[in-house]
Amino acid sequence: MNADESNAQLSPFTEEEEMYRRTVRAFFDRELDPHADKFIGDLDYDRAFWRKAGAAGILGATIPEAYGGPEASGICGVVLSQELGRSVGGATVGSSLGADIATHILFAGGSDVQKRKWAPGILSGEVTQCMPLTEADAGSDATAIRATAIRDGEHYVINGSKIYVSNGNKAHLLYVVAKTDPTKRGAGMSMFLVEADTPGVSRSRMTPMGYPAYDLAAFHFHDVRVPADSLFLGEGKALGILMTTFALDRLEIAARALGEAELAFQLALDFVKVRKVFGQPVFDFQNTQFKLAEMKTDIEVGRAFLHDAIRKYRAGAFSIADAAMTKLWIPEMSDRVIDNALQMFGGSGFMEEMPISKLYRANRLHRLYAGTSEIQKIAIARAL
Ligand SMILES: Cc1cc2nc3c(=O)[nH]c(=O)nc-3n(C[C@H](O)[C@H](O)[C@H](O)COP(=O)(O)OP(=O)(O)OC[C@H]3O[C@@H](n4cnc5c(N)ncnc54)[C@H](O)[C@@H]3O)c2cc1C
Repeated sequence: MNADESNAQLSPFTEEEEMYRRTVRAFFDRELDPHADKFIGDLDYDRAFWRKAGAAGILGATIPEAYGGPEASGICGVVLSQELGRSVGGATVGSSLGADIATHILFAGGSDVQKRKWAPGILSGEVTQCMPLTEADAGSDATAIRATAIRDGEHYVINGSKIYVSNGNKAHLLYVVAKTDPTKRGAGMSMFLVEADTPGVSRSRMTPMGYPAYDLAAFHFHDVRVPADSLFLGEGKALGILMTTFALDRLEIAARALGEAELAFQLALDFVKVRKVFGQPVFDFQNTQFKLAEMKTDIEVGRAFLHDAIRKYRAGAFSIADAAMTKLWIPEMSDRVIDNALQMFGGSGFMEEMPISKLYRANRLHRLYAGTSEIQKIAIARAL
């Protein structure tokens, strides 16, 4: 039995999740990788991609049958992220379909009416979502946000600004976190469902260092009036709702980073076997073989760690510290692997059009967003 066969046997994924993986893989091979450059600067192409993903049955995997969904496991999102990481086109589009994780927010905090209203559009890809939480002066320290939502009769009035919002420019639904009680920190934070075309909402595009087609937005909310029933679960409940996605979010980011490391390794391996220097393939230098051996070992340790995390998640035993360790270690590992992979390409690895250079810039994100590596270390240390 080779390593890949034994991995398959020990896989923590169910048959349903593996079927989902095959659907996602075929979809990315067909609709993403050959067309990645078309996403750059073209939100309409991106929107059409979501609708195609909806038609392929990829979106809203966890939506309950009662709301028209397949009611599959949350681990489908992890599968999707890993396949996005393994796709050359993934290094161009950024979080993309990974933003489907926002569906958990709707189902954790939304009313029955809201779920019924929006589930069909989420499943078809007509409706996309984003989670504006971070502000210019409140990222790691999220409870320091200044955006406010003040009750005024049957409405709340939202004011404030948000930055770095994934999928923000095309999103129809915004799960906005704002303070209903600005004198409090976490206990004053509430979540609102805001439709993007509500008067007073404006947004602009931000340009990240990696993933050239990443849909990243800054928002401004100026006297945005939303009906009082836009509030999810009650005042002060935002952090509780966000917590419902934290564990899965960490798993998805780790899976994305692992997928990118796997892809970089394969690109480097293919390259060194054909590139000849001093009359021999680069692969034949012992240094190359030693580096590849280290990279392969790193990836397998990362895979084992992710698989163990998935088993714990399923068993309800995935602690905050477990999630933090997964989000800390796997992205740091993938940075190491991708850096080594790029080195093997020599100068060609530094060229803009090379997939390895795109991966190099892109992968750096995983140590920064959704809680930096330092913030993960704080969570791990807190549990000691
Ligand atoms: C591409 C991208 C997509 C994103 N998507 C979203 C999104 O969809 N929605 C959303 O709300 N946000 C999103 N974010 C925001 C992201 O989660 C924040 O950028 C991140 O949490 C860090 O916050 P910050 O940028 O304010 O950095 P800061 O909090 O200013 O941190 C600066 C540095 O200080 C360190 N630091 C902070 N606190 C401590 C501490 N206590 N001890 C030691 N070191 C510390 C940090 O680790 C970091 O190195 C996204 C960001 C990016 C770049």
